[in-house]
Amino acid sequence: MKDSNFLKEHNARQFWHPMAHPADSNANPPTILTGGEGVYITDVDGHRSIDAVGGLWNVNLGYSSAPVKAAIADQLEALPYYSTFRGTTNDKAIELAYLLADFFAPDGMTRSFFTSGGSDSIEIALKFARQYHRIRGEGTRTKFISLEKGYHGTHFGGISINGNSKFRNAYEPLLAGCYHIPGPYLYRNPFGAETAEELAHLSAKMLEREIAFQGANTVAAFIMEPVLGAGGVIPPHPSFMGLVRDICDKHGVLLIVDEVITAFGRTGSPTGSRHWGVQPDLMCTAKAITNGYFPFGAVMIADRIVSVFEDDRSGAGSVDMGYTYSGHPVGAAAAVATMQETVRIKPWENAGPRGAEMKAGLQELATRYEVVGDVRGEGLMCAIELVSDRAAKTPVSKAAPLAFQKAAYEDGVMVRVSGNNVILSPPLIVDESHVRKILSATEAGLKAVA
Ligand code: PLP
Repeated sequence: MKDSNFLKEHNARQFWHPMAHPADSNANPPTILTGGEGVYITDVDGHRSIDAVGGLWNVNLGYSSAPVKAAIADQLEALPYYSTFRGTTNDKAIELAYLLADFFAPDGMTRSFFTSGGSDSIEIALKFARQYHRIRGEGTRTKFISLEKGYHGTHFGGISINGNSKFRNAYEPLLAGCYHIPGPYLYRNPFGAETAEELAHLSAKMLEREIAFQGANTVAAFIMEPVLGAGGVIPPHPSFMGLVRDICDKHGVLLIVDEVITAFGRTGSPTGSRHWGVQPDLMCTAKAITNGYFPFGAVMIADRIVSVFEDDRSGAGSVDMGYTYSGHPVGAAAAVATMQETVRIKPWENAGPRGAEMKAGLQELATRYEVVGDVRGEGLMCAIELVSDRAAKTPVSKAAPLAFQKAAYEDGVMVRVSGNNVILSPPLIVDESHVRKILSATEAGLKAVA
């Protein structure tokens, strides 16, 4: 390994980081990581900390999953690459499609389309939705509706349905025909709703209103995360997704569920859709599908949609999209091993109680630190929203979350900051002592900004 000074200097000079201002590499040099073990990460200076970010919500089984590592190594020996475009396929991609249908996909969903990651999965789902309507002779259904604060990756379709202007403005004009409704964000909601249930009904009403306003025959799909993640961990009331499902059904609008974060255990259930008891039409996954060890994604598609494509005899059902790395054999092997491990370990059974402990601990901290404006969480995805004035809900200055992050890291826990939110999404294998440590480091962070 190159020495620490070499790495710091060349990171700043040659490495252009995603999701960062280029000047940041000098002003706030990123932590250079060199090792991972269990739920811990180690940086180039040898500092070891609990990874309360879980990689990027994806290393659900931690950094030491031997079966996943072995599957990757074995597959590199057996067949490191081949395309799955028409005419060829591979054994691992087939096994993966079988496993996903067998366990994770909802009933009536037996087909998977493979991608290289979350943003790719979103684009594929949006395109499937439009094509499905077109095959059925409803080619006017081209529009998408999504939630404010939703995050759906960074391709043009994804940012067009993204509900946060930060990810959109520099890249406009975006895809035409994308509309947003206020989501289930109780802490700052435009209706003055006081309960999550009331807000769920109001947001659902907004969806129906928007569909009516646009004209139902122009709307292809509604897309949502079961728990909004990057937007600040915003769980809806348990009734919300069911209300949305009914409205979509009533108006012939497809429901695309973005499970890039929530699939495979994070909410405390195998998938977010199952968590809320709803069947999507298209389900986008990525991230934890390979435990984060290989870039890979899958879109699962309801049989009733698949059959429209299969039954087409006009040629309109030809799927002329896909990626060089769709069904990559090494990624598929990693995903097969991850799915087998996930079914064996059932990490959602740990995510539920550990997440409840974490949320309760954060709520207790909120009683002692005025800077905590809101605490939210579902399973092992939690957030605290930092405010400089509780009554006015004024977000803290930009420097505060970074000071928080630095203090928590020095105390032995890596946390993620996004705007004025501190996000905690550790691997799903954390135990009670790890949760206690995450909470004590969170308190160190709060002391730094209080
Ligand atoms: N959808 C959601 C809900 C996400 O959280 C993300 C990434 O964080 C994406 C899509 C995009 O995934 P990727 O970064 O793998 O392209």
